[in-house]
Amino acid sequence: MPKINPFKSAQQQLDKAAQLMGLDSTVRERLSMPKREIHFYVPVNMDDGSTKIFEAYRVQYDDSRGPNKGGIRFHPATDINEVKALAFWMTFKCATVGIPLGGGKGGVTVDPKRLSERELEQLSRGFIRGLRADIGPDKDVPAPDVYTNPKIMAWMLDEYETLHGRHLPGVITGKPLPVGGSAGRGYSTAQGGVYVTLELAKKMKLKKGATVVIQGFGNAGSYMAKILTKKGYKIIGVSDSRGGIVNPKGLDPVAVEKHKASTGSVQNFAGAKNVTNAQVLTTPCDILVPAALENVITADNAGKIKAKAIVELANGPTTPEADEKLYKKGIILVPDILANAGGVTVSYFEQVQNAYNYYWSEQEVLAKLEPIMVDSFNAVWANTVKYNCDLRTAAYIHAARRIEQAMLARG
Ligand code: GLU
Repeated sequence: MPKINPFKSAQQQLDKAAQLMGLDSTVRERLSMPKREIHFYVPVNMDDGSTKIFEAYRVQYDDSRGPNKGGIRFHPATDINEVKALAFWMTFKCATVGIPLGGGKGGVTVDPKRLSERELEQLSRGFIRGLRADIGPDKDVPAPDVYTNPKIMAWMLDEYETLHGRHLPGVITGKPLPVGGSAGRGYSTAQGGVYVTLELAKKMKLKKGATVVIQGFGNAGSYMAKILTKKGYKIIGVSDSRGGIVNPKGLDPVAVEKHKASTGSVQNFAGAKNVTNAQVLTTPCDILVPAALENVITADNAGKIKAKAIVELANGPTTPEADEKLYKKGIILVPDILANAGGVTVSYFEQVQNAYNYYWSEQEVLAKLEPIMVDSFNAVWANTVKYNCDLRTAAYIHAARRIEQAMLARG
């Protein structure tokens, strides 16, 4: 099967909204390509004395609403089309929740699990050296994404500040607390997804004990499982890259996390049945949460999904063909650009705190995040009624209007 190009899917998503809302045609044209694509190579001295060269990218999609913003992905399958799509989604994500930032994304084609700690640090520092003139707190601000984390952000910050000879903590977000990170940033993607899920549950009139399946048990997925469990939801299935587990009586996410940390996988968890990745996605449940990578819900399996609703914690997990099938089946889908926007929203708070050099408590961060997620959900929901469309298209209409206003105001 040919690889699905996520950038093509992303453009199709916007096309649908652009038509319905009557988006300005010059704005539509400008959003069909990124403003800037940086393609570079990072040499790393490996532990065995050899030199390896890694392919790296940074896409600065659009900055009409503010500095480009978005994470850096270290993944063996990352390529320019994926990074372009991710940068495009960041542009719409920031606009959906109304934070004054544009969209960007970075990536390195690498399997970080096969690098030593020293090699990983060299790669992270080399990535920043390659971009030293292209990023900055008021220009383009990276953050973590798949297989990058606060530790890597600290190395990157240190490299950037060393090169510039001064402290500039706002150049990167998702940092550890001691070097200017924000309270709550570590679990904010999941927390934002939870605020959205709670609003959705009201609309769906879901009862306590509603069942949830989570595909992907990385940072976002595992926090989502833990926070939803505290809110009274029952997690009945989870999966990671090696496979999944299901237990209709419910899984304890903290115990699953410990099991994964010691064995390397969620599989073979006591009391649960091992299933394939494909089976996890088609497990009957109230809410299905894709929390890993793109293109997992496609035309091939959309017809088999037995969830009542889908909350996209991953970026781009559903293809446009699958979207149509799900909509016809009456499955509600809360799109990525809304559902996973909690992460970048707290990244924005992190930058604000860096600029003030004054830090907020975890409670303050959450008190600011919740209304943004709730209000954005309700604004998007209102659009589904106004335009008689699915939630993804409604979110695009909401976001594209804001981008349009900024672009047209700049002339
Ligand atoms: N990588 C996250 C995302 O896809 C966070 C980006 C950020 O905080 O800039 O939304």
